[in-house]
Amino acid sequence: MELIFLGTGGAWGLPEHQCPCATCRHLRSIGQYRTRTSLWLEGPARVLIDPGPDLRAQLMREDLPRPDAVLITHEHGDHYLGLDELLCYRRNVPPDAWEPIPVYASAEAWEQIEARFGYLLGSLLEKRLALPGAALSGAPFGPNLGCTPVKTDHGPIPKGSLGYRFELATPEGPYGLGYTSDMTAPLEPDAFAGLDLLVCQCHFVHEPAVNRANHLSLQRALPQLLRWQPGRVYLAHLSCQDHIPGDDPANAMLKKYAPAEPLRGADGEPYAIPRDHAAWQALVERALPEHGLTMPVTVAFDGLRVPLPAGG
Ligand SMILES: [Zn+2]
Ligand SMILES: [Zn+2]
Repeated sequence: MELIFLGTGGAWGLPEHQCPCATCRHLRSIGQYRTRTSLWLEGPARVLIDPGPDLRAQLMREDLPRPDAVLITHEHGDHYLGLDELLCYRRNVPPDAWEPIPVYASAEAWEQIEARFGYLLGSLLEKRLALPGAALSGAPFGPNLGCTPVKTDHGPIPKGSLGYRFELATPEGPYGLGYTSDMTAPLEPDAFAGLDLLVCQCHFVHEPAVNRANHLSLQRALPQLLRWQPGRVYLAHLSCQDHIPGDDPANAMLKKYAPAEPLRGADGEPYAIPRDHAAWQALVERALPEHGLTMPVTVAFDGLRVPLPAGG
């Protein structure tokens, strides 16, 4: 079994097109990019999580076949606007051989998804409801592949925001895998506790004075990771929204978030804002141990494939 990171960037990708900030200028100069965050679970079934606007390029890059199910975490465009791209699979089988792909989202998220993509339901896709706390029902979910939606707080606009907890059957027993998606916290504080692997949002380093974006900073994530103690952590949904030296503070276009009280290392100094992947990885390998966390941590990147235990 395998987890594939189709994309690892924030809502507008990294670098953001035409963003003049120091991070985006640096990323353009070294040719490093992140497409919108999306995951593929190659497990007892093929599960696509959050078909965002970059889906076509992501599926082509990884050469992926028809998914057995699609999970949507919430009704922000970067998490579902790629649904139409799934038509490629139906166009390549005889019409009478097509089985609609089951798509799960909360009732609140479906209100918006259905308004936009109602024409796909029944023909390409099958609408299914994800209820927080209730294991998903219907194939491909069952004894070998369990999945339970977790209600999350992602601010007032996306009312239907969910994370997901998976339970994969292996010969050594169940393997727990979680995905927080966009959030500041789960409504049930221990909803992501005790997992073997957690994919955790990491939108910025420092918690902003006002978290208008309603995303998880590394600073806000640390105490939650300490509480949940996952076996290992992958960070995703990275943005350029920390303010760093070299950015013009008078440039109102930069959409940067000033920290309330910056996250500090053991030396008492605020952590410097990483501008690229290597700097992000170096930061988290320093910051987690300095805050009492001993599990391995990886900043995910587009195309990263993580081997999971063999299925049972
Ligand atoms: Zn997002
Ligand atoms: Zn969002």
